[in-house]
Parts: sequence; structure tokens; C-alpha cells
Amino acid sequence: MPEITMYTKSWCPYCDQAKRLLAAKGQTWTEIDVEASAAAREEMVARSQRRSVPQIFIGDRHVGGFDELAALEAAGGLDPLLGLQAGGGGGASEHRRLVIVGGGPAGFTAALYSARAELAPVVVGGLQVGGQLMLTTDVENYPGFPEAVTGPELMERFQRQAERFGAEVIAEDATEIDLKSRPFRVRSAERSFTADALILALGASARWIGLESETRLQNKGVSACATCDGALFRGKPMAVVGGGDTALEEALFLARFATEVTVIHRRGELRASKIMQERARKHPKIRFVWNAVVDEVLGSEFVSGVRLRDVESGEKRDLAVEALFVAIGHKPNTDLLRGQVELDPVGYIKVESGGSRTSVEGVFACGDAMDPTYRQAVTAAGTGCMAAIDAERWLAAHGIE
Ligand code: NAP
Repeated sequence: MPEITMYTKSWCPYCDQAKRLLAAKGQTWTEIDVEASAAAREEMVARSQRRSVPQIFIGDRHVGGFDELAALEAAGGLDPLLGLQAGGGGGASEHRRLVIVGGGPAGFTAALYSARAELAPVVVGGLQVGGQLMLTTDVENYPGFPEAVTGPELMERFQRQAERFGAEVIAEDATEIDLKSRPFRVRSAERSFTADALILALGASARWIGLESETRLQNKGVSACATCDGALFRGKPMAVVGGGDTALEEALFLARFATEVTVIHRRGELRASKIMQERARKHPKIRFVWNAVVDEVLGSEFVSGVRLRDVESGEKRDLAVEALFVAIGHKPNTDLLRGQVELDPVGYIKVESGGSRTSVEGVFACGDAMDPTYRQAVTAAGTGCMAAIDAERWLAAHGIE
């Protein structure tokens, strides 16, 4: 077995995901904490040419971060690299009355309700099981937690509660969803299921600006996760793009480490909630650049600044920062569904008004993949409950119990 080295730090959801994936394959690894010493940080940057954690080396090969590890797994390349026999997903399909695709608050709530209804659901929860909350520190607005709870702890509780009643959770990405034949079919890298009914709880992913320089400098100062990468830029100036709750949450988190955080917003008015606006506006290290967009991320090897364009005057100017955090909203994870179920022009799954039924009989949707409006953990959980009840009634009405 090749030796695995992982550069990590203490609060690092993607490190946890990578460890979970490697542990599931029976691997052990040497961990180097880049927060504990500047020398370790410098060693990681020198070896990987990256400024984000985790950085994973399998033998001499630099795999990259969790996304690259997951992509390698999805392409069937991880097992051979680890010296294991490839898992191959080609085995016989297992049939379930109900399969839930997505393991965030919506998917786990659907799993809890349908497990209690004795439907023995399987949750194809994704490699990043837990969804977007896995990247959040304190969740202050989930009812029942007056002292706040961390996103990962909340999701672990969701998962445990669903499993307690018999839900089975698979930490693999769905690679194919077939709604055109019955029973429906869901495939992941290692498993394949057929299902009489499906609940789609696919969630959403961070949106990027779409600049070539942004892509080139990802993991080299460009990031969409302040809680993951912020500490690596301690004592440096940083910027956040966006005017919503996520942008301000990121700015407030980054202000713990940065000399200054500049929030760049394309309008003169924030979209974020009043409480977040108030906290950010009165923070001494946070300042705002209004009516501006990022035209280019500057830097050859690592980020050295951003070129801003004033949307009113067209004037351009450069701002020196070493990290840029992009927080401009999310897009629904519905690419696998294109052409199979009705989506709106942005890609959100269309559901009947006040319910969870989609345009395909027996397929129900919940959470951020169908909700362009509220997109909260609590509303995702609420719609997950609705989808489970709708699916249970639909199965009963079709004599599938
Ligand atoms: P959001 O509310 O959709 O805000 C996205 C922001 O990015 C907006 O200010 C938008 O500008 C800007 N934007 C969009 N595309 C852009 C582009 N191409 N270039 C520059 N700027 C662009 O997304 P979010 O902040 O991720 O929040 C999503 C949901 O989660 C919201 O419902 C939010 O309330 C919730 N949330 C809640 C909390 C909390 O309660 N603590 C924390 C995080 C998120 P415009 O304003 O001009 O459209």
C-alpha cells in the first residue's frame, strides 16, 4: 500500500470528508497540521503549489484536495492508486421502495420520516454527506439550538436520527439518475439501486464568477469556503465578493485572521439579513466597495490582488489582497436530471404548488434543489418531511407498501 500524507488543519470540513473516504477504504495516513507550524505550511505550499487544505499525497503523487480525491474515486482511479481491486459499480441492482438522493437537511429529514413509516429508505448521500452545512461554523438560526450548533454537528445528528430508525446512508455521489424507466434507477460509483419512488434532495453548490483567472487561481488564494481556507492567510488582506448572508458570514469569519476584509458588492445595497449587515458594518476590520465587480483575479502563482470595475463609471482599479472568497450564491445540483423532469430556467426542480410532487409520477423533490426562494436549513428539513409524506402516500395509493 502506498504511504498517504495529508496536510490538514483543525477546522477543515474537506479534510474530514477526505479522511472519511480514505477510512472507508481501510487506509491510514500521516497527518501534518499546517496550522501548528509555519514550516509545515511552507512545506505544503512548496510541495503542492496550493494554498488550501487538505492537500493529499498518495505515494509521490499529488492528488490535490478533497474535490480531486472525490473525482478520482468517481472515475474509478482511486482504488488502483491505493493498490486495491477496483470496486466498479457494475454489480446487481438492489431494489428499494424508496431511494433518497442527497444527504443534507432535506434528504435526512425525508429519510427520518420515511424510515419511521417503515419504508427502509436508502440515502445516496454524496461523498460530501451533510451538504452545504458541512462548510458552516455556527448555525444560529436552526430552531432548538439556542446556543448555536456547528453545521457538521447538526448534520451528524440528522444522520444519526435517520439511521436510528433504519435508514441506510451511502456516502457516494449519484453518478446517474434514470427517471425514464420504471422502476427508477440510481447509480453511484460502487452501487446501483432501483426504486419504486424517488426523493430528490440534491442541494446546491457554490456559484463562481466565471473568470479564467478565477479558475486558474483556485486553491491558490481563490476559494468558496472561508471556514476551510481563511486561516491559511493569517495576517494578510483578503476580499469577499457578494452581498448576501453567505458573503457577510464569510467576511465576519475571515476578520478573525485578516488585516482587513474588503466586501465587494455589485450594488449599493446588501441583500443580507439585517442582523448580519449590522454585525459586518460595525466590524472594525470590514470595509465595503460598492457598485463594483471583479474583472480579473491578479497573480501568476498565487493571488496578489483583484482588478475591480465600477459598474457605473466603468473605471478600473486594483486592490491588493492575498485571498479572494467568492460568495455569490448557489446553483441547484440538478445536472443529472436535465431532460428528465421539469426544471425552471435556472435549473431548480419544479414542484406542484404547496407540495413536493414533480412532473414525473412517483418522483418528489425537496430542499435547495427545488427552492429558489428560502434556501434555509430549516425550510430544507420542512420540505424533506413533505416529500417523505407525499412519497409514502403515493406508494400506498399504488399498493406498494
Ligand atoms: P444570495 O442571497 O443569493 O446572495 C448572492 C449575492 O451574490 C447577492 O448579493 C448577489 O448580488 C451577488 N451576486 C450574484 N451573482 C453575482 C455575480 N455574478 N457577480 C457579483 N455578485 C453576484 O446567496 P447566499 O448569500 O449564498 O445565501 C443563500 C441563502 O442562504 C439565502 O436565503 C440566505 O439567507 C441563506 N443563508 C443564511 C445564512 C444565515 O442565516 N446565517 C447564512 C448563509 C446563507 P445582488 O444582491 O445584486 O443580487
